[in-house]
Amino acid sequence: MKYISTRDISRCPEKVFAAEAIKKGLAPDRGLYMPEEIPALTEKDIEKLRTLPYEERAAEILSLFLTDYDKEKLLCDCREAYSDERFPGGAAPLKDIGGSRFSLELWHGPTCAFKDMALQIMPRLLSSALEMTGEKRRAHILVATSGDTGKAALEGYRDVPGVDITVFFPNDGVSRMQKLQMTTQKGENVNVAAVFGNFDDAQNGVKAIFADKALAEKAEEKGFFFSSANSINWGRLAPQIVYYISAYCDLITAGKISNGDKINVCVPTGNFGNIFAAYIAKQMGLPLKRLICASNANCVLTDFIRTGTYDRKREFFKTMSPSMDILISSNLERLLFLIAGPEKAAAYMNELSENGSYTVSEDVLKKIGETFSGFYCPEEKTARVIKETFEKYGYLADTHTAVAIGCLDEYRQATGDSTVTVIASTASPYKFASDVCASLGSPADSDDPAEILRQLETVSGTASPKPLSATLTLPVRFTNTIKPENMADFIFNN
Ligand SMILES: *Cc1c(COP(=O)(O)O)cnc(C)c1O
Repeated sequence: MKYISTRDISRCPEKVFAAEAIKKGLAPDRGLYMPEEIPALTEKDIEKLRTLPYEERAAEILSLFLTDYDKEKLLCDCREAYSDERFPGGAAPLKDIGGSRFSLELWHGPTCAFKDMALQIMPRLLSSALEMTGEKRRAHILVATSGDTGKAALEGYRDVPGVDITVFFPNDGVSRMQKLQMTTQKGENVNVAAVFGNFDDAQNGVKAIFADKALAEKAEEKGFFFSSANSINWGRLAPQIVYYISAYCDLITAGKISNGDKINVCVPTGNFGNIFAAYIAKQMGLPLKRLICASNANCVLTDFIRTGTYDRKREFFKTMSPSMDILISSNLERLLFLIAGPEKAAAYMNELSENGSYTVSEDVLKKIGETFSGFYCPEEKTARVIKETFEKYGYLADTHTAVAIGCLDEYRQATGDSTVTVIASTASPYKFASDVCASLGSPADSDDPAEILRQLETVSGTASPKPLSATLTLPVRFTNTIKPENMADFIFNN
């Protein structure tokens, strides 16, 4: 299977194998890589997958997309990535939360958020890609993070052969727990620095390094090249397809559905990566009826799905579901490519970067509406959902998952469609313990991470996940705070 760019409008599009697509991340024309066809999944395939453990489901499904990869090696990598040690309690367990709603818990990995599902396996896919393409240089992953991605990337890339990683986080832009998670990071190939300023300062610093030809040459001389870990890389998207198929299998096993029955999926959405993976699963043949795109107060996607106009020129809200505080959902480009083709996808993206908005044609909007519904959940409602879900159903949801639950409520009220629904649960409630406590009616009166974890344990009668509580006692390894203009020096001198 080969990959093409979402913006390639030539008559003979340039095609690359998966290894090349994963190594490059972004296509040379700035488009995103997409498989040139979507492999099919039959009822029989699903029945076969159903009998396998998660890591084997993952290897089977990934091998359909990564046909140039050695299947044995893929299986080994999946076994390591999704081991019990890394995902105690299972990689993607499904919890019945009542009302034909099932929470697909994607946060049992090392950093307690769903990005682990992709970032535990993607570095291994990159490492294989370097070998397969005869790459002699090491890859140096650069990440600017506002919190969650940095830690998940550090955990994923640590001690992976052929790769090094440096993470920059804004000195005054992350929570104390997030900072502690990063500065105590283990591994021989990892480096972390705080940068004076906010997230944009760190992000702009990283972008400048990527764009600097002299720095690329200097890296070349030292035997490495810069690479990114962000969610537009196909190597991050493909592993996310797996858990929707896996959840469907688990619903059959649990006797909640029969093979062939249609279900709905509701996903708390930021960059449109997670929900797009569900769309691919549907295109493969997984019986998904509607995909409910859940947003927080930054409801740019809700408006888009309802009106066909994507407009990023709007007020930006900082919410208690910060991983969804996004005004440009990069992976939407992949959906536009599949539905409207490369000419229109490229034109819409150009309009977005030039004018900050675009409007899709009637037929494109209609096609999107055949699968997607868009809803958003404002802050007060998110807090109410956390409280009600806990009190009524005994389920403790984090702030992002609560947005999805709130949006599903609205969808059901608006449509009367009570089909069995899988809700993507994207973070442990302990990762956002302070806001969860406040929503439950017991605001924490300290900003000490240990205190806050303890308070949520008391209020909810649940235990905090080990990776978070263990962080509190780990030695701090990284203490540098640097100026944005010194970021490149920091990489080359360490
Ligand atoms: C990244 C993230 C999301 C958003 O996922 P996208 O793939 O960007 O749509 C939602 N919840 C949490 C906790 C996240 O970390």
